[in-house]
Amino acid sequence: MIDFAVIGSGISGATISNKLNKKYSVKVFEKAKGVGGRSSFKRFKGKIGFDHGLQYLSPRSRKFKTFTNKLIRKRIIKLWKGNHEFLNERVKRDKKHVKLIGLRGNNDISKHLLKTINCKFQSELSKIQRQKNCWFLKFKDNTNTYAKNLIITAPFPQVKKLASSFVKTKLFRNKVKMNSSLTVLLMTNKTGSNVSSFFTNDDILGWVSNENSKKRFKYNKDLWVLQSTYDYGKKHTDNYRNKKKFYTNVLINKFKKLTKVKIKKIYFTHIHGWKYSSNSKPLKTLSHWDKKIGLGICADWFGGPRLENGWLSANDLYNKIK
Ligand SMILES: Cc1cc2nc3c(=O)[nH]c(=O)nc-3n(C[C@H](O)[C@H](O)[C@H](O)COP(=O)(O)OP(=O)(O)OC[C@H]3O[C@@H](n4cnc5c(N)ncnc54)[C@H](O)[C@@H]3O)c2cc1C
Repeated sequence: MIDFAVIGSGISGATISNKLNKKYSVKVFEKAKGVGGRSSFKRFKGKIGFDHGLQYLSPRSRKFKTFTNKLIRKRIIKLWKGNHEFLNERVKRDKKHVKLIGLRGNNDISKHLLKTINCKFQSELSKIQRQKNCWFLKFKDNTNTYAKNLIITAPFPQVKKLASSFVKTKLFRNKVKMNSSLTVLLMTNKTGSNVSSFFTNDDILGWVSNENSKKRFKYNKDLWVLQSTYDYGKKHTDNYRNKKKFYTNVLINKFKKLTKVKIKKIYFTHIHGWKYSSNSKPLKTLSHWDKKIGLGICADWFGGPRLENGWLSANDLYNKIK
């Protein structure tokens, strides 16, 4: 029987698995087809693709800066230079913070941390039970497994649904507000734009990234990622599936109007709704560990809305387990 079953291959799951794997047997179960969670990379062909969720890292804490500096030296991540334009004059320009991205895609950190770890994809945990002092895990595809300890790294509402009857602390009494957003992946003619990203002050379109400016590939077309504001996401993420074309056009038209980028032809679009995109209110604790039943929870939502918060949470949990 494995020592630790870890649910999720985003930064939190990858970090805790990498640390535990040095001492224990670990297996990761991930409901998606690939690694990275909300920092996934949507491949179009070969090296060409889009950062689907997370756009860049801006390390704030000393610990995370040390970690990312190591990754830069190992050529896992790199600096995203370029011209980041602010169309919103009310927002202070974030000059102080560097922008770091994966060398090939923003799931490179998770891939690196999980390199030697046994991962099972398309494996969605649906129910957990305690049986004879260990965990009995049931998956949506009717498979199941046993594990001595269980670590869950999903967004707050999903962990609450799975594990609330096993958590005796006040953790799930917290009100963790998760934001939603819509993302459009867009491939156009070569526009000649020299802008790497646009921050806007619009009610609908919040941010645009020029994927070609990340210099991971050379391509004869432009790739863009358009992200809605949280306000727009809150209103429309639940029903976007019924009107994908409509919402795709709303975001593309806003992009054209606000940035004046010259789009003559559209080759490809894809829209995705992030129901649990990020959260805004940090909790008082960084992770949850119940040694008696071997249940751990770590995720970004303990500390804030960024990838760094997931990494810090996983480190905190590891220190508790140790
Ligand atoms: C559109 C968007 C833009 C963002 N931009 C930035 C940014 O610029 N900078 C930044 O720092 N952060 C950004 N973020 C936030 C960042 O992506 C997250 O903070 C970080 O990825 C969270 O990592 P995590 O491992 O805690 O959670 P996740 O990445 O969500 O990982 C959880 C994993 O668990 C899996 N899972 C969930 N339930 C189950 C189940 N029942 N069974 C099996 N697997 C399951 C999920 O598929 C997922 O892979 C952005 C997020 C989004 C959505």
